[in-house]
Parts: sequence; structure tokens; C-alpha cells
Amino acid sequence: MEEIFKKSLEAQLEKLSNKSQKNLDKKLVRAVCAALLEVFCTIPARKADTPRAAYFSAEFLTGSFVTGSLATLNLWGICEQVLKQKGYNIEALEKPRDPALGNGGLGRLAACLLDSAAATDIPLDGYGIRYRYGIFRQDIKNCEQTEQIDIWQDNCPLEKQRRDEAVLVQFGDTDVLAVPYDVPIVGKNQINRLRLWSAEATSPVDFTAFSEGNICSAFSKMMDAEAISGFLYPPDNTEAGKELRLKQQYFFSSASVQSILRDFKKTARPIGELSDYIKIQLNDTHPTVAIPELLRLLCEDFGRDFETALKICGEIFSYTNHTVMAEALECWNEALFCRVVPKVYPYVVMLNNHLMQRLKGNKNLSRISIIENGVIRMANMAVYVSHKINGVAKIHSEIIKESIFKDFYELYPERFLNITNGIAHRRWLCLANRGLTHFANSRLGTDWQENLPLLEQIKQFNSTADLDELAKIKAENKKALAKYLKNNFELSLDPDYMFSVQIKRIHEYKRQLLNILSVLGLYIDLKNGELKDFYPTAFIFAGKAASGYYNAKQIIKLINAVSRLIEKDETAKKYFKVLFIPDYNVKNAMKIIPAADLSEQLSTAGTEASGTGNMKLSLNGAPTIGTLDGANIEIVDYAGEENNYIFGAKKEELACLTNYDPMNIYYSSDRISRVVDLLKQGPAGDFTALFNSLLFGDDADRYKVLLDYPSYQNARLRANEDYKNSRLYAEKSLINIAAASHFSADQTVGNYNKKIWKLM
Ligand SMILES: *Cc1c(COP(=O)(O)O)cnc(C)c1O
Repeated sequence: MEEIFKKSLEAQLEKLSNKSQKNLDKKLVRAVCAALLEVFCTIPARKADTPRAAYFSAEFLTGSFVTGSLATLNLWGICEQVLKQKGYNIEALEKPRDPALGNGGLGRLAACLLDSAAATDIPLDGYGIRYRYGIFRQDIKNCEQTEQIDIWQDNCPLEKQRRDEAVLVQFGDTDVLAVPYDVPIVGKNQINRLRLWSAEATSPVDFTAFSEGNICSAFSKMMDAEAISGFLYPPDNTEAGKELRLKQQYFFSSASVQSILRDFKKTARPIGELSDYIKIQLNDTHPTVAIPELLRLLCEDFGRDFETALKICGEIFSYTNHTVMAEALECWNEALFCRVVPKVYPYVVMLNNHLMQRLKGNKNLSRISIIENGVIRMANMAVYVSHKINGVAKIHSEIIKESIFKDFYELYPERFLNITNGIAHRRWLCLANRGLTHFANSRLGTDWQENLPLLEQIKQFNSTADLDELAKIKAENKKALAKYLKNNFELSLDPDYMFSVQIKRIHEYKRQLLNILSVLGLYIDLKNGELKDFYPTAFIFAGKAASGYYNAKQIIKLINAVSRLIEKDETAKKYFKVLFIPDYNVKNAMKIIPAADLSEQLSTAGTEASGTGNMKLSLNGAPTIGTLDGANIEIVDYAGEENNYIFGAKKEELACLTNYDPMNIYYSSDRISRVVDLLKQGPAGDFTALFNSLLFGDDADRYKVLLDYPSYQNARLRANEDYKNSRLYAEKSLINIAAASHFSADQTVGNYNKKIWKLM
């Protein structure tokens, strides 16, 4: 494989050398793609009747497909070598913008599972939407987030349009053409595929209207259709926005189900065997409408009766829950649903009737039903039909059984299971952290790269020389990040500071507010002469706020305002740096994570389903400062509490906490009140909205920022103290790297197969 790639790339570069050097980066990417495609030709194609699984997801946060393929096939080294020989730099491959097809952890998990399935010979295909613009591109202006559309699509040279496999999706008002774009997701022994659908009008222009001069109405069908695959998560605070979301969900669910049925026909097997051929994993509730759609097609196109069709669907579908936040469990107004997808609606009614019939007499019927008071509850539908329902970390899988799905758990306990998330270590370690990869290779050989649990053995290498080398690798990564930020964002960062890193979507439950308030607290202490021997620290943030989420945007503004405040203060800037890195995405994450000294995982206990950022940071040697929430719990189980900085109320403690009143904390603690007071017309500006959210209203301080503030501040000072002893800190780092070997997405996707899909 390596030989073919090398020869092909050399030939491609030879051709390049005679051409103009304009757009060189793009040309280099194309050259590497061409060489990759030649390698792909040598990998056996899957047989038409191979049983397979399909991952339905509204998001795939893949990062570059080119670097991803190089990582899985372990061709990065040779690629770098060939490029270098010809006088080129491999950094060219990191220039194109990432595909803007995802928002956060849910989309990144989808990408990690696809990568790992391909690498471990599990036939798993992804199905989603090829968003024209996807998630917005974030910039910071005057401390605030600004949003621009992201033109990324000319950057995806490995994808292939398959117009010959287009399908028609029928809505109440019109039909839309779904055109698939396929990206090969490669492993060494097989090729899977990510199929993304783009929406087009069946007849783009109404020529009669056009010739009458009604230009707008002539093109309106085209615009309506293309809006469907325009943006990720249209704002759902208007009726039009809600309708568009429902259209998106049905669009890709229906197209994917139709495409799977078409592929199945090629096997010439009877429809009764469909569930031996395909398993469909619903990544959260967004694609749940695929269930009534498949029911409909089985009944109407394949002549099955409802009961038989339902049984087949039950064997095919399973559902992964990603959050216990009630607002994220998809619900549709019944009238809207009926209007937008009238052909599917009767099957939802039949499903609901089926449930009411079967569970007649259950005292919680009004909680369990699929339709209640004119609302269709997609999560209930998913749980009622699916044969397996999983949470994404141990604590989360317990929580869903006790809370949102309690009634269903009592009825169908055998359906519920846990599959803890994992990460594609080929990308997040082998590719992102070459120094650490070399450290491991030179001690363990390279087998761990295909079998991450073997990396656990790295913990034996804790001699002084080993630890010094490890610390040096981290220092190099920090320098590399500083350089990257200077070159790409004109941001300055002193690599000698400790890097404390909180990178994730901005959300109140993730508590970036706790982090930045604590920085303000340290600032006050410094000014009062109460902060002794503090090791200079850079508090690094990155993440996007949903465009309609006011408080999250205020938090971004606050972080940037505090950054300016400190920058202007000659004393403070010797100890602190606050840095907000704009436009968080996979590419930036790959630079930031290997440089982190401390991983900030601050969610209120019981709110973060799993997290995967925590795993990536741990695998790259950053101890966690965090709550006992999500996968932090499992990280600490493996790595030991003494090698991490755990703080805050536990989930059980919060459950007992009735009548929480943050005002009491505010009045009883000077340390807290003087920090919170800074939000009101303090030196960083006016953040009254955040001030009020912490102290007033029915749900004052919903996420218990003030409650956990003192223990967080303590943990932070402990970490800072430990960091001064670089060898001690490197040892903690080493233990975390070894422990994170438990979080391979290879293992995670293997568990999906072993416990749910049972392919092969
Ligand atoms: C891993 C990752 C996430 C998820 O981060 P969490 O800390 O688990 O929320 C989000 N965005 C990107 C780009 C990632 O790589």
C-alpha cells in the first residue's frame, strides 16, 4: 500500500513541478487525493449482500477527509517524506477549511465511529445531509461572536456526486430530488462510505412564470428545495424555522431509507430478510422519522401488513440518546407534521394506536404515548420501536433509565444498555501529536496504533529521562500552537505559560462562566496581594454559541472582555492570559489539544452525557480539572483521582439539594459576591444579563456555578501548585495518557456491533 501511494504521489508531484505554482496548496491537496484514490482501488470493494449497519446522523464533524484517510491507512509519514523530498510542506494539507457538517460532540462521535469502523473491518456507512453552508464560521469582533456563512464545499476533493442514484422525497407541498454525494471512508481491508444528500428542485425554474417576468416565483421552487440542505440547525424559534428542520430530517431520513432499500433489491433476497441485511443506528432523535418512513414503504411498496412491518423495523432500528436536556428531545406539532409529511403522518398515528393498545391500562400512558395533546414525541417513538437504546457513558446510561425513559425502562429493561463514547486515536493522537506518537513508538513498537489498549503499557516508562522527554514534547507542541495562532489568527501566546484549555460548544451547562469568573477571582486576589506564587497561566477558550442563544453569546463577550482587561494591566498580564481562539473546529482542535496542560471539564454533574473532548485531552497528556460527570468519571476511574483535579457537587448531592438559593451564597461569601459584582458595570463591561441569570428568577443559577465556585477555585490552585514541579506533573500526564487507552472508538464501535448490530 505504501509503495503504491509513494509511486503515485511522486508521479503526481512530477506533473505538478512543470505547472505554475499558483494555488500550490490546493494543487498539493489534489495530488495527494489522486494518489489516495489509486490506493483505494487496491482495497477490496464490499459485496452487494454483505450485512451492514447504517449510521443516520444530522451531523458528521469529520475534519479533512484527506488527512483522515492518511491517518487510517498510516500513510502520513510517507506522505510527509515524499512531499519534503520534492521541496513541499505537508502543512498544505491542513490549509483547506474543514467540511462544515457538524456542530459538536454528537457530530464528532459520528465521524470517530465511521473512521474506526472502517479501520476495524466493520461495514458501517454514514447517512446525512450535505449542507451547502453548514455551521457558520465564527469570528470575534469587539469581543463578540460574529457569524459568517462558511464556503467550504470546493474543498472536498474525495467526494463523488452520484446523480444516477438520486431519489425523490415527497413532501406535502412538493417533491424534492435528493442527490447523493459519497465520500469513501477507508480502512486497510475495506471501504465504507459516507453518503450525504443534497436537495434540488425537480424542475428548478417555472418557465411560465419566468416568461411573464415573475422572476422570484419562477425560481421559488429551486430556493425552497435548496434551503433544505442549506444550513445546519435552522433557528427553531419561528414556525418557518421549525418547518425547515422537520423538512431536513425527513429529507435525509427518507432518502437514506429509499437508498438502502434500493441496495437491498440488488441482493435479490426476500424482503422478510431485510433486517438480516441492514441495521440502522439513529444518532439522537433527529433521524427518528426514518422509522415511520420505513414502515410506510414496507406496507405500501412491499405489501407487508402493519404488524409485520413493525416487527422488521424493531429488528432494524436502534437509538442512541445524547442528552437529557428536555429541550433537545425532538417534538413536533401534530398539525405541522401532518402538513409537511402527510404520507408519513398516518403511520405515526398507527404507531401511537399500537402503543396505546399494547400498553392499555398502564398508569403512565400519557407520559409514554407518542402523540399527546397535539405534540408528536420523537424520542418516545424511537424508544418504543427500537430493539436497543443506549446512553453514551456509564452515568448517562443510568440517568436515562431513571429519568427521561423511566417508564419505558420498566416496560422493556432488556433494551437499555451503555456504550461509552470513544475517539479515533489515529486522528487525535497519531496524526495530531507526532511527538507523543514517536515517544510511544520508540518504547512500545507500533502495534498500539492498531490496538490502542496496548498503549496502557506506556505508563512503565516513568524514569526521569522518560518524563523529561515527555515534558519536552509538550513544550514543543505548545510552541507549535503559539506559532499556529500567530500565523492564522494574529494572536499571541507565551508558550512558557501553563495552558489551561476549555474548548467545546459554548453552553451554560458546560459552565465556561465558572471558568471565567474564577479568572476574575484570581485577578482580584492578585490585585489585593492575596495571590501567592501563582504559576503564569493562559486560560484558553474556543467554541461556538448557537446564533440564537443570548446568554452563551454574552459568555463569549465576557471572556473576550476579561482578556482585554488583563492585557491592559501590566501586573496582571505577567500572571494571566485569557485567549479566545475563534472558529473552533476539528482542524483547530488538532492543534490545541496536543498543547494542553490542563483539560477543563466543568459541566454541572448530571448534565454532560459523556463528552469526548475530555478523552482527547487526556490521551494527549492533559490531566482533567473537572466534575464527576459524563465520561470524566470513567477517566478518573482509570487514571486515578490523585492524577486529576476533581471538584464540585456530585449528581447525588445535587439531587438532594432542594430549595437551592444562590442569593444565600452570594450574601454569605465575600469572595463570591465581589466576583459576581464585577459582572455589573465592572471593569470588563456590563454583563447584567449574566449577573441576573446567576441570582434572580425561578431558575436562578440553574447550573450551580456559585455552588461549585469555591471547590473549583481550590482545585485550580492545586493544579497550579502541582504544575510547578514539572517532573511530578509529567508523571500525572503519563498516567493519563496510559489510562486514556481505554477510550478508543475502535472499541466503542466494536461494542455497537457486538451488542446491537451483530453483523458477521
Ligand atoms: C471533540 C470535539 C467536540 C466535543 O467536545 P466536548 O468537550 O466533548 O463537548 C466538539 N467539537 C470539536 C471540533 C471536537 O473535536
